[in-house]
Formats: sequence, structure tokens, C-alpha cells
Amino acid sequence: MHVVLCLGIILQGTLAAAQPTSFMGRLEQGGIVVGSVERGVTLTLDGRSLALSDSGGFVFGFDRDAKSTATLSTQYPDGTILTEVLTVTKRDWKIERVNGLPQNTVAPNPKTIKRIADEGKMIISVRNSTEQYPFYETGFIQPAEGRISGVFGSQRILNGQPRSPHSGLDIAAPPGTPIYATADGVVRLVHEGMILTGKTIMIDHGFGLDSVYIHMSEIYVEQGQMVRQGDVIGAIGMTGRTNGPHLHFGISWNGAKLDPQTVMLVLPASNASTNSSL
Ligand SMILES: [Zn+2]
Repeated sequence: MHVVLCLGIILQGTLAAAQPTSFMGRLEQGGIVVGSVERGVTLTLDGRSLALSDSGGFVFGFDRDAKSTATLSTQYPDGTILTEVLTVTKRDWKIERVNGLPQNTVAPNPKTIKRIADEGKMIISVRNSTEQYPFYETGFIQPAEGRISGVFGSQRILNGQPRSPHSGLDIAAPPGTPIYATADGVVRLVHEGMILTGKTIMIDHGFGLDSVYIHMSEIYVEQGQMVRQGDVIGAIGMTGRTNGPHLHFGISWNGAKLDPQTVMLVLPASNASTNSSL
């Protein structure tokens, strides 16, 4: 576990006892951080106010391409504001070259580009609202058994053309292999066939965190359904743009793409019995 580093702390106000906010996790691109504050304290990260649970718990994360610093402000009940400049470590990303893909999937026609954009908007609109309950406190489990066939963040070069970095974790397994909910949450999107992602599910874990499951062969849940960590939500397939059966599993915080392997490491399942099936 990486210890948090501060570049500088600026205290505005008079409360001598004000302490920097304590938290744990990874201050790095794709990383996640959790912590808690006392009642009456409010927090903002780069100007965005952070949701707080009844016990003062909070979470935030950093995109794959996050800048090298972030500013965390803690406001105490007496109005004192403590500002911490956090250093966000840069990561080196793998370069992944994939050749021999059908050219029309790498450079789609304008009509398909429009549909891909519309489907992307559906995903973004789900991320624009989130449950005000910290379902993510269950921790996160790997959602399927299988071989890790693609890691988070890789720069992809498809048929020689640079494309978006890989935004999740790929788990390769035979079609029909069960997929489990990584954490408690509410199913926010069920789609039977997006161009790139095929059969797609998104689960809202509260406080801006969501998980996405794509290329599935079967979906067993409905939009709006509450799921518990470890519930079977679908099966591995190869729908959408893929050349073999696998689950693409992504986690994001308010749209910032997080590294699922980091999230599972920082926030492992809090109840070991819930993932006994894995
Ligand atoms: Zn993937």
C-alpha cells in the first residue's frame, strides 16, 4: 500500500488542531483512495465536493491520464480550511499492437461512428448520476475466473493506427463462464448489443463509482435491480468488437477510468464469505 505524499499543505483559518485528512490507497494514475473524516467536515477534490457516508467515509480516484497533482481541501465546522496538494504518480503504460483486425471495425463508416457515439453518451449519462449510498464499502472482487489477457491503461495500436488506451481489465475464459457482481450496487444499464461492447451491464456502487461488464453472452439482471457482491449477473461471451471470448471489466469514479486491479488491491472484499464461489 502506498503511503500518501503531500507536496504542500496550506492552512487557512485559526484552528490549530486541524489535521490533514487521513486516507489510504494509491495516489497514482488509475489509482483509488478511501478515507474518513469527522462529522461536520466537508471535502473537495479539485473543486468537486466529495460525498460522505454516515460514518464520514469518502472515496476518490485518478484517471489513467490524471495530472501530476490534485488539490484536496478540508473544511472544518469552524470554517477553517486545510488545503493539501497531492502528488499523483505517473505510470508507464504497455504498448499493445493488435494486427489483422477487420479494417471496418478499426475505421468504421460514418453511420457506425454515429451509433458508437450515441452508445457512448448512454454510458456517460449513467455516470452523471450516482447512488448516494456507499455500496462500494463491500470492497471489490474479481468478477470472473480466467486468464488476464489485457491490463488496464495499455496504449493500443490497432492495424498500425493508435487508438484509445485500454480502459479496463480483460479476463479470458470460455463462453458461458459466470460473471459475478464485483461489489454491491444497483444495475444502471443493461444493453443487448452495443457496437463496440456487445452485451453490456453497468453497476452503480455509489459515490461516483461504477463498474462495467462487456462482451457478455448472457445477461441475467435487469435495469434498476439491486445486486449483492458475488451475485451471478451474466456469462462471458464475445459480443461486440472482440476476437475471442473474454470479459472486459472496467471501474470508474465520476468518469475517471480506474485500474480494476488497483481497486481490488486497495479495497478487497470486506466479507470473505461473499466471494467463496470464486
Ligand atoms: Zn478490454
